[in-house]
Amino acid sequence: MTTDVPQEILDALTDVDMPRLPPEAGPSATARLAGVEVPIYRAGSVVVGSGAAGLRAAVEMKRRGDDVVIVSQSAWGGTSACSGSDKQTLHTANTADQGDNYKAMARAIRSGGAMDEDTAYVEAVGSSRMMASLQFLGLPLPQDPLGGTLRYQTDHDEVGRATSCGPRTSRLMVKVLAEEALRLDVPFYNQTTAVKILTEGEGTDRRVAGILAMRAADRMEENPLGIALFVSNVIVLAAGGPGELYRDSVYPNGCFGSLGLALEAGVELVNLTESQFGIGTRREGFPWNLSGTYVQAIPHIYSVDAEGTEHHFLAQYYRSTQELASNVFRKGYQWPFHATRMLDFGSSLVDLAIHCETAAGRRVFMDFNRNPLPVPGDDLPFSLERLDEDVRLYLGKAGADQDMPIDRLKHMNPLAIELYRRYKIDIAADPLEFAVNNQHMNGGIMVDTWGRSNLAGCYAVGEAAGTHGVTRPGGAALNAGQVFGTRAAEHISASGRAKGAATGDMSGVAEAGITALLAALRSESSLTLKSIRSEVQARMSEKAGIICDQEGVARALIEARKLNADIRAGGVAYGRAAEAVRGVQWRHMALASEAVLSALDFFIRNGGGSRGARAICDVEGESLPYANAGPLEEYRFRKEREAHRDEQIVVRLDGDELRLSTRSNRNFDESARSFFERDWPAWLTGRIYDLGAGK
Ligand SMILES: Cc1cc2nc3c(=O)[nH]c(=O)nc-3n(C[C@H](O)[C@H](O)[C@H](O)COP(=O)(O)OP(=O)(O)OC[C@H]3O[C@@H](n4cnc5c(N)ncnc54)[C@H](O)[C@@H]3O)c2cc1C
Repeated sequence: MTTDVPQEILDALTDVDMPRLPPEAGPSATARLAGVEVPIYRAGSVVVGSGAAGLRAAVEMKRRGDDVVIVSQSAWGGTSACSGSDKQTLHTANTADQGDNYKAMARAIRSGGAMDEDTAYVEAVGSSRMMASLQFLGLPLPQDPLGGTLRYQTDHDEVGRATSCGPRTSRLMVKVLAEEALRLDVPFYNQTTAVKILTEGEGTDRRVAGILAMRAADRMEENPLGIALFVSNVIVLAAGGPGELYRDSVYPNGCFGSLGLALEAGVELVNLTESQFGIGTRREGFPWNLSGTYVQAIPHIYSVDAEGTEHHFLAQYYRSTQELASNVFRKGYQWPFHATRMLDFGSSLVDLAIHCETAAGRRVFMDFNRNPLPVPGDDLPFSLERLDEDVRLYLGKAGADQDMPIDRLKHMNPLAIELYRRYKIDIAADPLEFAVNNQHMNGGIMVDTWGRSNLAGCYAVGEAAGTHGVTRPGGAALNAGQVFGTRAAEHISASGRAKGAATGDMSGVAEAGITALLAALRSESSLTLKSIRSEVQARMSEKAGIICDQEGVARALIEARKLNADIRAGGVAYGRAAEAVRGVQWRHMALASEAVLSALDFFIRNGGGSRGARAICDVEGESLPYANAGPLEEYRFRKEREAHRDEQIVVRLDGDELRLSTRSNRNFDESARSFFERDWPAWLTGRIYDLGAGK
């Protein structure tokens, strides 16, 4: 990109307005349940969450004639609307150049292991349609003069399947999908937080019957917490990822996800051991990923201690200025931390070094007005001529030959600077403070290739669903949300269960649910929102971040179990009515945290090694990262076990106990070919939806 892009074009891509919501439809009735005057809303299907995934599901259902409503904690909150990076990425089959091979793409998507092969293919083959339909709705993906989509390479992507509208791709996706949902008159209940899934039936006949929510708009004297009942036979959980799990986090504020909500309803979770961590600015300020051109401009990275002294700490890790600068650059497309990239002076040594600095109480900065300082003892200072070949070639092709990092950044991606300016941070003038943060949950609710969970009538899409394996190519999360939002809608529509509003009498189940909900909220409890939050977040960041070990995780699990036992015994305190909903969410988050630690403990105790987001440190470990001065014994880590790539860890709640098991990845037969006349009837009769077994 050249620097002469007019300001109004930059503004339109960084400052994205959202549509206004229409007035909400009122309840169809009210009922007195558990001493509360509860409004009752009825729908064929309730979508929980209005991020890119939930909106896609709602739009696709409505277009198929289903009766669907959206409930959302915050209409334009969540990661889709509020997160991004220098070029926020959408990963779809490469439509430029010579086209793509979906099977090869599926292999690349699941290459980190612990991913269902059929799911990877579903995401790959569905991606072209997702992209085309988003373009149809108005998503401004950049094209060449002949209509090919502009592409680049990103994390875990050898081919160049990434595309982007700029820093705010996912917000633009939310915008076009929300406009479509409003055009289709999908009822939208904002400031509405789902707090309990209601079910009826027992054993394998158990299925969704509705959902309890808390709504500010329904608070009144006879219903001080604003409890509302949504009666529906189908719910789609699209509540995003559990961003509040970690203290060190680049998620926007208030992302709780639905892992605890799902566990409580007997829904199985999978792959909770798998997350993504990387460098970014934290949610205490403006949470944003520092991938792509932010680091490809090669700014100087340094730390400052309590006395205000600067430390050129990366120089203790890399052997030469060239090696240091080239690895800072590589963080651009090797953004997530990956244990094996700590070896051989690779790019994840940058994350480890930053992690160590922050753990030692130092603040870490990126300065775009300084090139990397030289590594002492290496007589050669930084020069664009002295970079590793891949780095030099890239910068050369990009025309980024300016002397200063800020000018290289301005040249390659002026939007990246503009974006921070919107939040009153001028990276052209001041150094930018940042850290290694939690960014994404790859695991989540276990679903099949239609987005169905193990609970009949309950679907999950987007980050709520655990469809990713150990690694995922950058942009695959947004693609998966679109593909599975559509697949779930197709399945729900084919089932016929959401054609009209549910009519059943749910008062018994709802009354029991409200009683349980209220019993867990106790104003006299010693467990406050603040105490639960700081305990959970500190434990997760300190014991389940990028650097873990068996003992630390086991101890953290014992503490997490104790916290949940205390919550069960004493409830969660709240003051104002608005805090009650947070009380429920923190109770769910404490449970989700125990589930993540249980899965991690199970994995490590069964010989699990370092993969994806975490290095499992072990004095007996086979892998040893080196720094400039020699081996980093403290960070010696276990290798991944090959067999673990073929399976996934499943977690479910049984009474008060979390149960763990493993299951093999589902397969995909690459040699199977479809044949039109043979396979057409299965589509015409709906057999492809596998609607048996009451689902
Ligand atoms: C900094 C950052 C950069 C990223 N960059 C990329 C990228 O480049 N490419 C990529 O593919 N992915 C990226 N991701 C990940 C991606 O943004 C998310 O996975 C994706 O946006 C999730 O979409 P979603 O619709 O599932 O959830 P969200 O967009 O988080 O939406 C969740 C919705 O659910 C609502 N909600 C939550 N709980 C409840 C409840 N109990 N009741 C009612 N409503 C509820 C929220 O208000 C929100 O509306 C990034 C993430 C971060 C944090």
